[in-house]
Amino acid sequence: MTDRNLAPFILAAFIPNLDDDDKFHDECGVFGICNNPEAAAHTVLGLHALQHRGQEAAGVVSCDNAQFHSHKSLGHVADNFNSPHVIESLPGDCAIGHVRYSTSGGSGMRNIQPLFADLATGGFSVAHNGNLTNALTLRRHLVSKGSIFQSTSDSEVIIHLVATSTYLSLQDRFVDALRRIEGAFAIVALSKDSLIGTRDPLGVRPLVLGKLSGNSYIFASETCALDIIGAEYIRDVEPGEVVTIDRDGIHSLKPFPLRKARPCIFEHVYFSRPDSLSDGKSIYKVRKNIGRELARECRVKADLVVPVPDSGTPAAIGYAQEANIPFELGIIRNHYVGRTFIEPSDQIRHLGVKLKHNANRGELEGKIVVLVDDSIVRGTTSTKIVDMVRQAGAKEVHMRIASPPTIEPCYYGVDTPEKDKLLAANITLAEMTRYIGADSLAFVSIDGLYRAVCAKDRNHSSPQYCDACFTSDYPTSLTDREQNDAPAQISFLKEIGSKS
Ligand code: AMP
Repeated sequence: MTDRNLAPFILAAFIPNLDDDDKFHDECGVFGICNNPEAAAHTVLGLHALQHRGQEAAGVVSCDNAQFHSHKSLGHVADNFNSPHVIESLPGDCAIGHVRYSTSGGSGMRNIQPLFADLATGGFSVAHNGNLTNALTLRRHLVSKGSIFQSTSDSEVIIHLVATSTYLSLQDRFVDALRRIEGAFAIVALSKDSLIGTRDPLGVRPLVLGKLSGNSYIFASETCALDIIGAEYIRDVEPGEVVTIDRDGIHSLKPFPLRKARPCIFEHVYFSRPDSLSDGKSIYKVRKNIGRELARECRVKADLVVPVPDSGTPAAIGYAQEANIPFELGIIRNHYVGRTFIEPSDQIRHLGVKLKHNANRGELEGKIVVLVDDSIVRGTTSTKIVDMVRQAGAKEVHMRIASPPTIEPCYYGVDTPEKDKLLAANITLAEMTRYIGADSLAFVSIDGLYRAVCAKDRNHSSPQYCDACFTSDYPTSLTDREQNDAPAQISFLKEIGSKS
């Protein structure tokens, strides 16, 4: 059934491209807490809850009023922050933390966040989720003026911009730096006197504000990191807002010209944990709504709705409820294997899918099955899963996807391959259907996705979300891409030693 003759695209998709390593990759979670005697322990717990946002490295920086302390490590939070000695080595009542995913090119120790520098204004540490679209341009400028970079992370430009700002106070220098960066950022920063949380003017990446007893405030990428420490969710940090917590309390500043927010819609589709809230709304409920829209838009007569676990599960429940078709766990996931997508090489990614999923044969034999997953990127997962379900005896396999076709890479912090490796950007729906080996394939429409997320169609003249991966409508300038052709970027990164 599967058509393997889609040669040009398929070659591009499956021959590992060594140049892939030469772009900045950031897919991260951030956490910060102040006024808490167990700041480091809470930060480690918060990072544990955010582990799905990045599994390659984790770091915590704490401050005890006089000094900063840091522990960083490649690997999972549970493996590297599990000893009391590590927590003891991070004293102080304020701390920030970061979990990071990067592909093999940028995964060296020196790129692990939070980053730290001793500035004229004192120690300053930064944890950044997102991706700056003018980082290379700024970096070149800063290097030409004498800045000495320690890492290949785009986030380091923030530290250098603060260091070289002509303003006097740290707060003013930080805002000055924020005005110069473009792209997506949710940042948690720590100085001796303050904890700061901020989001870019469009609010592309998420950041929430929470509170524990007393005046202990928390910033986190998602509310699941508040739940794990029993903190109350106060609100989302607003797009373009700089929230500072110091000994005088909590202060909010809006230093950017007002713009219509465009938070990332892919957080709703895949990235955030389903038990998190975004702008007070349950991600789980939104995903079920997407499944309902999908069932309304592209229903098929079937015996069973089966999710591709875990990311397809809420949408599959919504689809099954709307279509009135029984829901069954026809595929069982092994939870002791990481997300296949983020394995560093294509070979391992292929192997990973087999390691991760197994067909529940008794449920599938002789059945017409609707498989539901959240997205198709390269098509690796769908191809393997459809084949697995057929091998287990399913009579027909219909694939339904709870997002529109992914046709563009994300330059705002969700790691996606370049366009030549995105299945939907290169072949037609009919070719994709043959390629993954399904009897039929359908994606929810962009309006269907919007209805599920915000109960309205997409406002095409002024979209409510960043949906560039589905529409090619990037909401910020992409300065580095516009100014530096790709080969130049690659050689520049090689020059500065990105293969750390
Ligand atoms: P692919 O196998 O390349 O088509 O990727 C699709 C699968 O990867 C889906 O099952 C998604 O749940 C998952 N996925 C989609 N986007 C991402 C991402 N940015 N990071 C990690 N996993 C992803």
